[in-house]
Amino acid sequence: MIMDERIKTFFSEITKTGDFNIYQDSLICFESGLAVMARHGKERFLFATGSAPLIDELNGTTIGGVKKCPCDHANRLIINKHLNYTRPQAFGCEQPTFGFGDRLGVTTPAHITSIKNHSVKPILAQQSKREMSLTGRTLNDVLDDVVYGVLQTGYKGGFGADADHLKEAGDVEEALDLGVSMITLDCSNVLGNKNRKRVLNESLKDEYRSYKPVMESLGIKDRRHSLQEINNIYSDALDFIEYIYKKQIKGRPMPIDFEISLDETSEITSPLGHFFVANELRKRDVRITSIAPRFVGKFEKGVDYIGEVDDFRKDLRVHCNIAKYFGYKISLHSGSDKFSIFTAFSEEAEGRFHVKTSGTSWLEALRVISVKNPPLFNDIFNVSLEVFEKAKTYYDVGANLNEIEPIEKKDPANYVQYLNDRHARQCLHIGYGYVLADAEVNSRIYNTLLQNEEFFIETASKHLANHLEMLE
Ligand code: ZN
Repeated sequence: MIMDERIKTFFSEITKTGDFNIYQDSLICFESGLAVMARHGKERFLFATGSAPLIDELNGTTIGGVKKCPCDHANRLIINKHLNYTRPQAFGCEQPTFGFGDRLGVTTPAHITSIKNHSVKPILAQQSKREMSLTGRTLNDVLDDVVYGVLQTGYKGGFGADADHLKEAGDVEEALDLGVSMITLDCSNVLGNKNRKRVLNESLKDEYRSYKPVMESLGIKDRRHSLQEINNIYSDALDFIEYIYKKQIKGRPMPIDFEISLDETSEITSPLGHFFVANELRKRDVRITSIAPRFVGKFEKGVDYIGEVDDFRKDLRVHCNIAKYFGYKISLHSGSDKFSIFTAFSEEAEGRFHVKTSGTSWLEALRVISVKNPPLFNDIFNVSLEVFEKAKTYYDVGANLNEIEPIEKKDPANYVQYLNDRHARQCLHIGYGYVLADAEVNSRIYNTLLQNEEFFIETASKHLANHLEMLE
């Protein structure tokens, strides 16, 4: 970067106030003012000089010639007000998107780095209620961290914020009021039993008979379920989706991405069921951005797809046909590390997709810790082993602890190998809530990651970019 005198003076004023590491990419130049982010230890600040509506409004203290503003919630709202690229935005049905969960709140710069040279747009804030309760973070904390991460890197390409797997109307309203741009509505509580009868009119049966040619052209052949059974399964869900859409989403001044999650169930979504949901939603004038079906095979956390890739492709193809026919994106959850199916996914989805990943960023943080701070990794490893049975109640994992080499026998220089072992990965993957709840361990984790921030960004972004390379 060629620095003019004004910027040089500004930076030297900042370093005069303390031992600060300046994020030069974050520099914002106003007509008669400058702002930049800097870090001292674990704390980040936004420094400013001169005048601009944003600078004047930020809360902070003036030291020497610079204003030092904490990266807190109040200032985040002021930043959102003045810089439109720091506000979450919806991307609609055409733009491929990729969801990055971040349980730690320090991974946004790595996520932004990973999408460089890729056409997907990032959903940088994406935290389910389960993850927030396990990490003790609120939606505001998640949004604050993302916005400061965006500022830190100087990224202006736009990003989304997904209130992930919500099941209650009240949660949807709260999340939208806080500024998220995407709602993922988890329908698992309202999916019915195929044998518990819901009223099905004769006229609807006739209507679906008339769709036969269309359904055949989409590849819907399966007759696993009758229309009556499909209606039994989805009838309550349709009412719920319509209610949420019309009450919470439709009237909002900003566009909202609306994803329907049908994946959190053991029952595989049948193509007829998918078609039925999409068609009935269209009739009710409910506009959705994406649907996440429950695909064949197993999507366990932190490991590759379990199942036959060809079966997945066949199943996926019909779901993609349906999504294209109705004009929305197909969504893949628990998408991290599913390298064996990404080629099929990319070919079938043809750029109309959303993919969610989350825990893999946590595992990449642990990879950094295994290399840079082996004693800390040892402690995290032991907590994760200890809480495995408890943590398993929240997650679908098939790890067998007996398959994991005892850490006492392992050379600390080789701890990183655990990040390549599927059993150890899953154990480490799901233990995060308990690991982070230990204040001392928690503090050491953040210290290690921030002391090695460049290495962390490089490690995590490389792993995620590997996903994107195969998806595009
Ligand atoms: Zn899901």
